[in-house]
Amino acid sequence: MRKLSHRILFLLGTTMLSGFLGLTLFLTHHEKQTALAQGERLLLLLSETIIEGLQTVMLSGVAESTREYIHNLEQLSDIRGVTILRNNGQEAFRDNSTIADVNHRIGVDSFTKRKLEAPAVTVIHPDDPMLKRLVSVDGAAEVQYSYDADDYHLLTIYMPIRNRDSCHGCHGDDQSVRGLVKISTSMFRVEHELRKTGYSVWTAVMAVMLFILVMMYLLTVYSVVQPIERMKRAMKHVVSRENDCIIPQGDSCEEFDSMAASFNHMVTELNRYHRGLQSERQKLETIIYSAREGIVVTDQQGDVVLVNPAAEVLLGKTEARICEEDFSNLIDDPDYINASLANGRVDGSVPETVFYNDKLLNIYTAMIRTPDGSPLGAAALIRDVTEEKNLERQLRRFSNTDALTGLNNRRRFDELLLEEFDRACRYKLDMALILFDVDHFKRFNDEHGHDQGDRVLQAIGQKMNEIFRTIDAPCRYGGEEFVVILPNTSRDGAVMVAERFRQAVAEMVVDGLRVTVSIGVAVRPWMQYADGTAMVKSADDALYRAKKDGRNCVRLAEPSA
Ligand code: GH3
Ligand code: MG
Ligand code: MG
Repeated sequence: MRKLSHRILFLLGTTMLSGFLGLTLFLTHHEKQTALAQGERLLLLLSETIIEGLQTVMLSGVAESTREYIHNLEQLSDIRGVTILRNNGQEAFRDNSTIADVNHRIGVDSFTKRKLEAPAVTVIHPDDPMLKRLVSVDGAAEVQYSYDADDYHLLTIYMPIRNRDSCHGCHGDDQSVRGLVKISTSMFRVEHELRKTGYSVWTAVMAVMLFILVMMYLLTVYSVVQPIERMKRAMKHVVSRENDCIIPQGDSCEEFDSMAASFNHMVTELNRYHRGLQSERQKLETIIYSAREGIVVTDQQGDVVLVNPAAEVLLGKTEARICEEDFSNLIDDPDYINASLANGRVDGSVPETVFYNDKLLNIYTAMIRTPDGSPLGAAALIRDVTEEKNLERQLRRFSNTDALTGLNNRRRFDELLLEEFDRACRYKLDMALILFDVDHFKRFNDEHGHDQGDRVLQAIGQKMNEIFRTIDAPCRYGGEEFVVILPNTSRDGAVMVAERFRQAVAEMVVDGLRVTVSIGVAVRPWMQYADGTAMVKSADDALYRAKKDGRNCVRLAEPSA
C-alpha cells in the first residue's frame, strides 16, 4: 500500500468502520435493553392484573373457575405459561389440600372437593432461597431471563400474592403471602423486530460508509494526489531540465496553490541562477580554451577532467594521453609535480622552470579546495617561458657587454671585481688585476680617424680574449682603458701574462697600423687591499708609472709605492 490515496482510504475506512460499528452496537444494545425493560414492566403489570383477577374469582366463591381463567390467559400471544404456586413451591389448584384447609378453618364443607385430584407438582423447591425471599413479609417480585431454543429471551416473573384482609376469612391471617404467580413470556417478537431493524441499520450504515469512502477517495485524488502528481512531474522536469516546468495554480486547494507558487518561484530563481552559471561557465571555458597558458585540472579522485589546447601543445601530448596518464606524469617527472603540489607553489625545493618538450616551461600547481579545506582536485598552469628566458639572457648579456669590443663592460667589471675580491679574501687566494691604457690614442685618432681608432680598440679586445683565460674576465674599463681580473694568479704569473700581452699588442697590426699599451699590475695578497676599488687604484698608480717610464711597458704596484 505505497499509494497515498490507498493509505488515506485505508485509514478512513478503518476509522469509519470501527466508529460506525461501535455506534451501531451501542444503539442496538441500548434498544434491546429498553425493549426488555419495557417487557418487564408490561409483565409486572400483567402479573398484578392476574392477581387482581384471581382475587375477584376467589372472593366470588368459584375458586374452581381459576384453572379456566389461567388457561385463557395462556392463550394470549407471547405468553408461554401462567402458573399459580403455593408458598411451598407446588402448583396450586391441582389437589384438594387447600380446599380441605379452608373447610377445616371455617368449620363447614363450604367448598366442594375435586373429584379428579391431580398429583402435586413442585415448581420451586421449598428450600430455594428465592422462594423464601418471595414469601417473606416484604418479598418483592423476581424477574428471571433465560433463552429459548431459537436464542430469544424468555422473561419469567414471580409475583407474590399478598394475603389481604378479604382473604383472611378463608385463609386466616398467619401468612403475609398467599402464594405466587409465575408468568413467562417470550421476547421473540420484539427481538425479532429488533434484529430486522439492526440488519436494515447495518445495510444503511454500510451504504453510507461506502458512499463517504468513494467521496473521500475522489476528494483525496482531486485535492491531494493530483496536485502532488503535478508537482512530482514538475520536479522531474526540473531535474531533466526539459522545459520551464511551471505548475498551474488555482486548480487545487489553497495549500497546494501556495506550495505551487513557492515551487514556481523557486524554479524561476533556479533557472535564473542556472542561466547565470551557464554564461559564467561559457566565459570561463572561452578563457580557458583560448588561453596561451596550458591548463590541466583533475577531480577529487585525481582523474584528469580538463585539458586545454595550449596544454596539449606545450606538453606535446594529446588530451586523451594526458587524461590516460597520471596527473603527476604531466612532464614525465612525478617527483617534480608531487613536490610542487606538496609545497603549494614552486619554491626553492623545486626549480622554477623545467626543460620539457624542447621548451622551458614554468609549471604552477595547486590543490583546489572547498572553503572548509577539503580537497576538490588539483590544477596545473603551464607557461612557455623559453622566449622570455632567452630574452632575459640576451638582456643580461647586453647590459653586461661593451657594444664596441664585446668584452664585459664597466658595470659587469664592478660586479666581477666585488665577487672575485670577496672570494679571494674568503679562500685566501691569490688575485691579480691588470689595468692598461692605449698609448697616445688621442693622437692616433687625430691621425687616422675615430673609426680607425674603434677598429683598433676592437682588435685589442680580440687580443685580450686570445691571451687571457676565460675566467680572467677581460673588461673594457672605459675609453681606451681596459682591465683584467686574474683569479688564482700570483705576482709573477700576473707580470708575466701582462708582459706577454703587452708584446702581443705591440706586434699586432691593424690596417697596417700599430699601437702600444702601458700596463699597471696589482696583486694581492702580495699587497694588502681593503677592497677591489683600492686594488684598481693601485693598478692605476702602477699604470701611471708605466706612462711616466716611457709607455709600452709593465709596472707592478709595489708596497713601497
Ligand atoms: P696617453 O698615452 O697619455 O694615454 O695619451 P692619450 O692620448 O691616450 O691620452 P688621453 O687619455 O687624453 O686620450 C684618450 C683618447 O682616447 C681620447 C679619445 O679620443 C680616445 N678615445 C676614448 N675612447 C675612444 C673610443 O671609443 N674610440 C676612439 N676611436 N677613441 C677613443
Ligand atoms: Mg686614457
Ligand atoms: Mg691613452
